[in-house]
Amino acid sequence: MLNFWYKESPQYPKDHKDFWRTRLITHSLLITTVYFLVLTLLNLFYFQSYGIALIDALGLFISLGIYTGFNKSANVNAAAWAVTLMVCGLIMLFIISIGGHAHSLFWATLIPPFAFFLVGRKWGSALSVVAFIICAYLVYLQQQQSITIGLGSLFNVIEVSLAHILIFRFYEKARFSAYNQLSIRNLKIQQLAETDKLTGLYNRQKFDFELSKLIVNNTKSTSKTSHIVLICDIDHFKNINDTYGHLVGDQVLTEFANTLKSRIGNNALIARWGGEEFTIILSDTSLNDGVKQANELREYIAKNTITNIALTISIGLAIMQKDDTVSKLLERADKALYKAKNNGRNKVCISDKNAVINAHLANSNKPITHT
Ligand code: GH3
Ligand code: MG
Ligand code: MG
Repeated sequence: MLNFWYKESPQYPKDHKDFWRTRLITHSLLITTVYFLVLTLLNLFYFQSYGIALIDALGLFISLGIYTGFNKSANVNAAAWAVTLMVCGLIMLFIISIGGHAHSLFWATLIPPFAFFLVGRKWGSALSVVAFIICAYLVYLQQQQSITIGLGSLFNVIEVSLAHILIFRFYEKARFSAYNQLSIRNLKIQQLAETDKLTGLYNRQKFDFELSKLIVNNTKSTSKTSHIVLICDIDHFKNINDTYGHLVGDQVLTEFANTLKSRIGNNALIARWGGEEFTIILSDTSLNDGVKQANELREYIAKNTITNIALTISIGLAIMQKDDTVSKLLERADKALYKAKNNGRNKVCISDKNAVINAHLANSNKPITHT
């Protein structure tokens, strides 16, 4: 609606540090221009208060001058200072010119919100202190006089109160928007911090964090549900890099990650642990089911190609114990992986000796060994 007024003003994205200052400058200049125009005309033709009309005309002239200068230079700091000095100067001029009568002192309460927002804490404080010292002096001069309260007082109080509501609405909008931008950005930073850039899976840091949480819960819990950790390593991956190049190697890793996401159930947390090694937490999963899932994955990879390249994987599997730590649990899974590699690759090995018999029962035709 007010596009004609904002068309030439500098345009910043919402998360730019000068977005809200620019808004306050252009909003204020629009309001002061309209306000002083109306007051100049009223004081000239209706009240015939020529002195006050002169102050209003000065305000109108300065508002339009700053507006034009700001649109041409796009200098936010200069415009912020100009608007602050204009608002503070005109308010003080008005108050002094009528000796602080008719509740005009109330106008001085607009100085802190303007000055603080536009020129910062230091100068905001300084200008506010100067304004209130002058106001205190005017009150001191008035103390002996009998004060009459007329219609002018009422207008002053109403106008300043409206201005306060507007400015605090503005503040609240700016604060809310800044808070929103910040939380969106924090979320993005958090996602970046816990995501592997190449594959989009969780990274090792996030994996270790989630695993340590699960271990703490598992230690406290009295339930019999078990949690399984898998380490999958692509067999002879170096050959793929050497044969097809590093970029193809990267594509294989990305597509392998997608395959993991689509083949492993929803209760799994999948991460790229480093290089061509991937870790998986199967929470609330029995050992038999964990072995079954690991073998199905191994078989699927062996039977299908990834970016038209045939490959196999080896998997080390460990079940979480009550007294586990992240490093102890991963060490057992890593040992099982080592065993799978030594046993000729394309194998699933488990670390927990007592569980071997059960695992064999569930997968008697699958290549399973234990460390
Ligand atoms: P093994 O069957 O014993 O696991 O043999 P391997 O060749 O898979 O294992 P090795 O540890 O010898 O080599 C892993 C290779 O993975 C070496 C490294 O260049 C490659 N690699 C690690 N990270 C990346 C990556 O981000 N992109 C690509 N293209 N290659 C990577
Ligand atoms: Mg490997
Ligand atoms: Mg490896």
